[in-house]
Amino acid sequence: MTADVPKVCRAAPAVGAGKPDYKIVCREDYPVPTPGEGELLVNLEYCGICQSDHHQFAGDWHGIQPAEGVDCTGHEGAGRVVAVGPKVTQFKVGDKVGLTPVYKTCNDKLGQELCEMCQRGHETICFNKVYLAMGVNGTYTSYPLISEQWAIRIPDGVPMEQAAPFMCSGGTAYTAVKAAGLKKGEWLAVFGAGGGVGHMVVQFAHAQGFKVIGIDVGEDKAKVVKEAGGDHFVDATNPNAIEEVKKLTGDGLGTHAVIVTAGNGKAYAAAPYVLRPLGVQVTVGLPANGEAIAGADPGYIVFMGITIKGILVTTRKDMEEALEYLKNGQVKEHITVYPFSYFPEALANVAASKTNGRQVIEFLRD
Ligand SMILES: [Zn+2]
Ligand SMILES: [Zn+2]
Repeated sequence: MTADVPKVCRAAPAVGAGKPDYKIVCREDYPVPTPGEGELLVNLEYCGICQSDHHQFAGDWHGIQPAEGVDCTGHEGAGRVVAVGPKVTQFKVGDKVGLTPVYKTCNDKLGQELCEMCQRGHETICFNKVYLAMGVNGTYTSYPLISEQWAIRIPDGVPMEQAAPFMCSGGTAYTAVKAAGLKKGEWLAVFGAGGGVGHMVVQFAHAQGFKVIGIDVGEDKAKVVKEAGGDHFVDATNPNAIEEVKKLTGDGLGTHAVIVTAGNGKAYAAAPYVLRPLGVQVTVGLPANGEAIAGADPGYIVFMGITIKGILVTTRKDMEEALEYLKNGQVKEHITVYPFSYFPEALANVAASKTNGRQVIEFLRD
């Protein structure tokens, strides 16, 4: 069953994907694929721009390269199903769906045995996973494919331009706050708090009754953090930033948790030091390879009883829970919507960490 599906479409593929000098080119003649077994063809309306789009295609993560033939990066989008492949049972043409960073994982519905990670509920690090923009094309094309298994149903009442960036930044933020394990009234510090994931972390934390100190650079980011419900803002360029954060917690001991969404080594070097004893660091932001080492020495981690954990995007269950917040208006993506031709610039902006909130591309806008 299909709607009107063109043969070619708008897309912003890369020339030289996987190399530092890759280039994004806007095309009107990109081939539209045909959905295979268990796949949906989606007409994407909006695509969010994540910093990882750049790192994935710049070859910044050792050993992780886009597969042969994958030239569209991107892993957050929203659109409508226009064709379904054989054996699709849950979705039909016209359904509103979101694309997250995960294309597929072990699928017990197809009679596959679940791997250890899937069994333990950590499906995003499944041993058999395929990620968008790595194993298959991502969301920089207006007609991507997604497995039915990982298609996210977008609830009525959620605007598509909000749903698109939410598929990575919102879901990831929700899971990160959950991983911090805070109790009501406890303190959370957020590095990169004015960025795409960061400002969503601030909102989820605020909505759940935690006290939030946002850390980022400059007035514009301070404004975003305040609008997101942050209790305080500390500029990362302040040489006493760590002491400032600790002071703001009242007893001077520091925060109960810190979430690092900033993709840079300086944030990681500082993060453990804003924590009080038994504090938890949640690692989210992915810098270029080799920069994400926490600056804390083992003695500090030991004597303070610090826990450091990593989370990778979000599970389908968490996404469902997170979408409730978006639907109810408890959280909202701070977005700027750009026309199709802005893809190359948008990616350059995010690579340089120059954006407030999330940039979103509208495929049909010129
Ligand atoms: Zn992302
Ligand atoms: Zn698995």
